[in-house]
Order: sequence, then structure tokens, then C-alpha cells
Amino acid sequence: MPPLIEESRQVETPSLPELVGHTPLVRLPRFEPKPGVAIYAKLEMQNPGGSVKDRAALAMMLAGERSGAFGHGRILLDATSGNTGIAYAMIGAARGHRVRLCVPSNVTPERKRLLQVYGADLVLTDPMEGSDGAIRQARAIYQRDPQRYFYPDQYSNDANWQAHFHSTGVEILEQTAGRITHFVAGLGTSGTFVGTGRRLRQDLPDVKLVSVQPDSPLHGLEGLKHMESAIVPAIYDPKLADIDLRISTDIAHTLVRRLAREEGLFVGPSSGAALAAAIDLASDLKSGIIVAIFPDGGDRYLSDPLWDHPGTSEAPARAEGENEPVRLHLPEAALASIRRHGARVYPNECCGALLGTAPGHVTEAFSLDNTFAEEQQRRRFLVGPEEYRRAEARATETGLQLIGFYHSHPDHPAEPSQFDLDHAWPNLSYIIFSVRQGQPKELRSWRLKADRSAFEEEFVS
Ligand code: PMP
Repeated sequence: MPPLIEESRQVETPSLPELVGHTPLVRLPRFEPKPGVAIYAKLEMQNPGGSVKDRAALAMMLAGERSGAFGHGRILLDATSGNTGIAYAMIGAARGHRVRLCVPSNVTPERKRLLQVYGADLVLTDPMEGSDGAIRQARAIYQRDPQRYFYPDQYSNDANWQAHFHSTGVEILEQTAGRITHFVAGLGTSGTFVGTGRRLRQDLPDVKLVSVQPDSPLHGLEGLKHMESAIVPAIYDPKLADIDLRISTDIAHTLVRRLAREEGLFVGPSSGAALAAAIDLASDLKSGIIVAIFPDGGDRYLSDPLWDHPGTSEAPARAEGENEPVRLHLPEAALASIRRHGARVYPNECCGALLGTAPGHVTEAFSLDNTFAEEQQRRRFLVGPEEYRRAEARATETGLQLIGFYHSHPDHPAEPSQFDLDHAWPNLSYIIFSVRQGQPKELRSWRLKADRSAFEEEFVS
């Protein structure tokens, strides 16, 4: 009779360092604004420590061990807004090192907990000074007693960007079979962007490298830096990027919510910023393969105000096909034609249809006649059935969708009136622009709330 339990064999299992990297690339077709341009996300939350920073932390720690700087008994000390710290603490636990971290005291409670889970000591720093305050504190502690610490200083450590040169960049080349045309990554220490970017540029000289920053110094995109107002990392190479895009916290948050609802992908705010940049970029391309880095998962931000947004907890789920408005992408040519139309018919109101490839993406502004009687034209716009049919016919002819309407407000602000509210349809964008003394001025875009009680503003880009 064969034995019930086979004699156990020695099985090779990976050690923690071997689990870092090899993250999946997923395509996001619902966020692609036009055919021919694919958007892929590299899901760094799949690393064992839950973020892209596992790669850099591991490389810096192994380099320190090899050089002797991280000799036995030394304490790893660094400043981190969270993810690098979690990675240091996790790898430190696995390799028998003590870890001490300077962290702004306003990082999320989940993050502080995670660091404590792995046994790290925390030095909490002034929240008003952000990550720069944490860096200053770490430098001061190190200078007082340099023999006691291994201070990798992720902002100046070449092993940070080299980790991405040897892993992230190579993986993307393999996963896209060398077909990537645009690489998008946010800038924190800049290690991800610089290391991956240099690798891609080395192997594919024509690839375009796109860096992403918050659009203002006071932002909610944890992990990212607004370089002009921050201590610039020594490893940052500002000449590497072909394009540098600025993203608002609001847009990044909206995309984070949409990714969770529409793709089942729960990611952090800096992933929303990377996706916003990828969508902006895609809107201006004819064809291409864009890869954006999604640095971490969303569970680290559950207490973030981004989830206090109306409609996240109490409101009913959105109907199928009903998307949260993100922004209205309005190409230069359509904007110019709208403005010309407004100036031409001033002091009357002008109106027209917005045609596009998908909600939020205008391709063409199609002028219509204001159907109101002569004496009323100046005050109100209304698209009559005849004009609506013309707009639909144009959409069929061009293969586009009717995604909204525009109209002018002669000598009035670009804000919807009660009349506009009473006559608007849901799920459409309404551009309103002011024409003052015959000159087109400010332009804004609006969309009805799901309960039709009011308009919400859309961001026009
Ligand atoms: N996003 C998040 C959430 C991060 O923690 C970081 C790291 N600070 C980044 C983006 C940016 O990565 P890097 O430091 O490689 O520029």
C-alpha cells in the first residue's frame, strides 16, 4: 500500500525580497478618451508592503548591508510620508534590523498603525511642515549621533532610482513587449519616475516620459511633491521629463472614486493623479500605449476626506452608465468656434451642441440656431425639436455622441440661471460663457446633479 502522506520534499519558497516587484499591468478601457490610445496601470499595491516603495526601500537596505553602512546593530533612520516607512519596517522586521522613522503627525492613523505593526519607532513631526519638516528632523537626529544610525536618505540615495531602473522599467518593457509610447509617474522622491524613465529611454529612445505634480503647494496628494515649493530631491533630474503635468487634488479624488466604482480598483490619491494625467495626455494623442504607475492601494486612505464626498456613503449607487462628472476636455478648435459664435450673435444668446467620443470629451462644437422669438433671443436659449434633430443628425454623420450644449450669457456671469436649471437634461455637459460688450470672456461648464436639484461645476481643460 502506498503511504498516506508522501515523504515531504524540500520545496523552494521565495524569501520576502523576492516577492517585491513583478506587479501586474491592467488596461483601463473605460477611462480611455478615444479609440487608438490605450491606458494601462501598473498596480504597485500588489507589492508585499502594499506600495511601489518596497522596491526602493529593499534596494537601499541591501546596498547599505553590502557597503557596511548598515552594519549589524545600526538603526535605520529616515524621513518618510508613509509608504517608504512601511517598506523599511516590513523589510527591517524580516532581516532583523531596528527602524526609526520621522513622520509628519498628520499622516493617516492607518499608516501609523501599520508602522507599529512591523515594530518601527515613530518620531512625529510638525504637520504644518509636511514631509520637509520630517526630512529636517531626520537630518538633525542623524547629525547628533551618526555612528548609531544607517541613514539611507531616500531623497539623495542612488539605490532609490536604480531599483526602478533594474525592476519597474524592465517589467514594463516586458509587459508591453516594448510597445509603450508614454510613461506617466508622479514625483515624490522622484525615484520611480527617474529610474523607470531612464531605463525606458535607454531601451526605447522615442518613448515620452511624463512626470506628474500637484497643481499647488497645499494639496492632498499624499506621496507627491510640488517641486517649486518643496526641498528638491538630489536624485531628481528635471531634464528627463518630456512633459510635466499638474493635477488638482479634486480631480485625482474624483478619479479614485470612479476607479473603485467602475473598475473595482481601490487605489490611493496619487494613482488618481497619474490617471488624470494619462487621460489628459490621451486626449491629445492620435494613437499610443500609455503606462501609468499606480503607487499604492486605497485602504491606507479610508479616513481621508476624499471619502467624505457626498454620494460616497449615504446616496444610492449610481445608475448604470451614469458617471461622476470629472472634467470636460475642450480642444482649442472647439473653444475658438464657441467663442466666435458668441461674439457674432452678441447681444443675443448663441447656442450649439457639444459632440464627442465619450461623456466629458468634446471633439466638435456644432452651432445651432436659438429657437426663441426675436425679442426673447437675447435673454434665453432653448434648443427646439428641429435644432435637436440637427444636432443628432450631425452626431450620426460624424460617428460622435451628443454629450452636451453650449450657450452664451451676454453681459452676464457664466453661471446657470433658474431657467437653465428648469430646462436642462441629466448626464449632459452645459457650457456657459459670458460675452461682455461683444467680447467672449469667462467660460465654465455645468452638469445636473443626479437629483436634478442644482448644477455641479465641471472642470474644463
Ligand atoms: N505615491 C505615493 C502614495 C507615494 O508614497 C510615493 C512615494 N513618496 C509616490 C507616489 C512617489 O514615488 P517616488 O518617491 O518614487 O517619486
